[in-house]
Amino acid sequence: MWGQGEVDTIVIGAGIQGSYTAYHLSKHSKTLLIDQFPLPHARGSSHGQTRIIRKAYTKAYYTDMMTECYQLWKQLEAETNTELFRPTGLLVMGEEENPSFQAMKSTLIDNKVPMTTLTSADMSKRFPAVKLPKDVSALLDKTAGILYADRALKTVQDLFRRFGGIVRDGEQVVKIQPGDLVTVTTTAGIYRAKRLVIAAGPWTNQLLNLVGLQLPLTTLRITVCYWKEKLPGTYGISKGFPCFMRVPSDPDVYEFYGLPSNEYPGLMKVCYHSGSRADPDERDVTFQQPSQDVNLLRNFLSREFPGVDPNPAVVESCMYTNTPDHDFILDLHPDHKNIIVGAGFSGHGFKFAPVVGKILSELCLGKKPSYDLTPFKICRFRLKSVL
Ligand SMILES: Cc1cc2nc3c(=O)[nH]c(=O)nc-3n(C[C@H](O)[C@H](O)[C@H](O)COP(=O)(O)OP(=O)(O)OC[C@H]3O[C@@H](n4cnc5c(N)ncnc54)[C@H](O)[C@@H]3O)c2cc1C
Repeated sequence: MWGQGEVDTIVIGAGIQGSYTAYHLSKHSKTLLIDQFPLPHARGSSHGQTRIIRKAYTKAYYTDMMTECYQLWKQLEAETNTELFRPTGLLVMGEEENPSFQAMKSTLIDNKVPMTTLTSADMSKRFPAVKLPKDVSALLDKTAGILYADRALKTVQDLFRRFGGIVRDGEQVVKIQPGDLVTVTTTAGIYRAKRLVIAAGPWTNQLLNLVGLQLPLTTLRITVCYWKEKLPGTYGISKGFPCFMRVPSDPDVYEFYGLPSNEYPGLMKVCYHSGSRADPDERDVTFQQPSQDVNLLRNFLSREFPGVDPNPAVVESCMYTNTPDHDFILDLHPDHKNIIVGAGFSGHGFKFAPVVGKILSELCLGKKPSYDLTPFKICRFRLKSVL
């Protein structure tokens, strides 16, 4: 018999990672999902219409995990009769000798991922609106496409509720008392559970502070820009234009990535894979000056995508929570084995949510994880205690 406010598992954070974890857990146990804001909201990392899904990765363990991610996204689509994935392919463009470009190519070949390679001349024939320097070639990851992010998040949360999961939104967690039964205090109530999952995105360290842990996470404000096509449809999804990633030759510059014009007609989403350090609670202060990343994007687009107006037509914001090695954190709290942490998704975690949720639920239920978690362990960092 459960006491009032007592469940098997509490998950803090109803972004895509916490919601998917809660959904997996709800098949086995009574699960409570808590979020500080009324849902849906646009203050974290999981909002917006679209995300890229791909198998092209420099690290083979991500390509490997993606096989099951595609299966689980497809299963979710079938179970809920909802379209979440649209195939487009992903063009990876870079200098042939660039180490990241080489690594992605090898990973795709080694894992027999359907792909083609395109020389600079092939590119001008097939995608005349992209102007690449002569020494730049491209790979086309044919498995890639678009995930409808907002729709996916709502679908997972709806399914969680269908399995008997309970959502408490608009309640901020302000206190956590570890123990055999973990006690979680929010701005509206007190809950107890045998296990706790913390999947709080850019707020992770604020919550971990309540349980004596700090992780080396950097929170970045990302400028999400949409650019107007001079001739509508030039880079359009209906014309078969793919998602893309441009690997820069300068090691101090991060990738540029984009999606074909789709969600806002006539506008193409192109972003820089980095941003400026920001506290998630201060993300939305107004900036008077165009940020450095917008200038980088403007220069890049003027050179290589001359079919768009190089002034952003729509600017939105989102948050990255980066680890030093850009690998995720999927692990138990070092001192409290019934507290599980899923964090540090470093701007590339959305597509992995079905498998991240599965792994976090396995850690929670004391099962052997389906994947080798060595790259994702907390012990790879030197930690400072906050107690
Ligand atoms: C611009 C942009 C583009 C991206 N593009 C891609 C892409 O193309 N492909 C891809 O795979 N990934 C992409 N990502 C990354 C992906 O979106 C993130 O990795 C993912 O959304 C992280 O989800 P999360 O659940 O960890 O965090 P969040 O979505 O931030 O969720 C955390 C939740 O915890 C809640 N919370 C925090 N503190 C508390 C508290 N004290 N009490 C209660 N609730 C709390 C928050 O309110 C929030 O809802 C992109 C990210 C951005 C920003």
